[in-house]
Amino acid sequence: MIKTRGYAAQTATSPLTPFNFERREPGPHDVQIEILYCGICHTDLHQVRNDWGGSMYPMVPGHEIVGRVTRVGAQVTKVKAGDYAGVGCMVDSCRRCPACNEGLEQYCEESPTWTYNSKERGTEQLTFGGYSERVVVEERFVVKVPGSLDLKAVAPLLCAGITTYSPLRHWKVGKGQKVGVIGLGGLGHMGVKLAKALGAQVVMITTSPAKGKDAVRLGADEVLVSKDTAAMAKQANSFHFLLNTIPNPHDVNPYLALLKRDATMVLVGALTALEPPLQGSSLIIGRRQLAGSVIGGMPETQEMIDFCAAHKIVSDVEMVPIQSVNEAYERLIKNDVRYRFVIDMASLK
Ligand code: NAP
Ligand code: ZN
Ligand code: ZN
Repeated sequence: MIKTRGYAAQTATSPLTPFNFERREPGPHDVQIEILYCGICHTDLHQVRNDWGGSMYPMVPGHEIVGRVTRVGAQVTKVKAGDYAGVGCMVDSCRRCPACNEGLEQYCEESPTWTYNSKERGTEQLTFGGYSERVVVEERFVVKVPGSLDLKAVAPLLCAGITTYSPLRHWKVGKGQKVGVIGLGGLGHMGVKLAKALGAQVVMITTSPAKGKDAVRLGADEVLVSKDTAAMAKQANSFHFLLNTIPNPHDVNPYLALLKRDATMVLVGALTALEPPLQGSSLIIGRRQLAGSVIGGMPETQEMIDFCAAHKIVSDVEMVPIQSVNEAYERLIKNDVRYRFVIDMASLK
């Protein structure tokens, strides 16, 4: 076993504090990665605080991991020692269901093994995430990261990047389409960059007028303030696609009214009940569709990294030492991040 230092939450109400644990020795198909950077996703906060129920402690969060490969098992072909590699939200899956066979491991019918707050398959051993020195992961769940990109700004691609890329691709967003990205946070700012790179006309839909300038700098063609009912009414029935990244229960009805006939809004943020309720008429009038999406499969995650390398797309990050992770969480709740916190893991040493 490999002694590893990290930061963990011991309960839903306690701050993250230093925590020592062990990783397995790499098996024939495993990759050992010394973690350089780990992004702070809003999901980390939801899980640590048990917002969705079922959280298991101690919890070492973190699923936006970038690092350097230090050791590989004898059968590994994807990466070698010295390469840069990334790990996202999953570290395993059943590998035999239809979803896994199609490379859609995120929809594994037996549920994927999540990078943290999950159990190693067939055992009671908790998985521990990226707020730590190193990780050992089966090569299928590792992506190759080109050294040409700014590595600290690559880390958020492993969740925020793929979670926005996958629905944009699945719903075939591109040239000639007007696309709205709702919520300018970690996911939203990647959604704007990626939708723009895919050729769409991009509208940033935000509750924060002060973020308007940034939205344009990130690639938005237009900014729509969702609290401005007159502005919202003006854009009714005009969007081909909406990507909704709002992390909390919210009224989806005014957003659905923005969709053209037959168009789709995809939820990626709101995992709990919609509040106030969805009105049937919001869908029925206009034959509109409301859908959901979770991260992306491993082949598509590699495709997204390669797409970002080709288009020179990375995340806008604010670096924090691990000792400041609890303050970063408080700022995330207050919507005070431009646009992703990333932990410099050198601070753990
Ligand atoms: P984030 O950085 O906190 O950004 C969320 C943004 O939503 C905020 O910046 C804010 O943007 C807007 N917002 C916040 N509260 C709002 C409210 N009550 N009403 C309207 N808008 C609100 O969070 P994130 O890391 O991007 O994550 C977003 C959500 O996606 C989280 O729930 C996370 O758990 C989830 N997630 C899902 C997946 C998946 O696979 N489906 C993957 C990763 C994360 P404005 O100031 O512009 O309004
Ligand atoms: Zn995430
Ligand atoms: Zn499966």
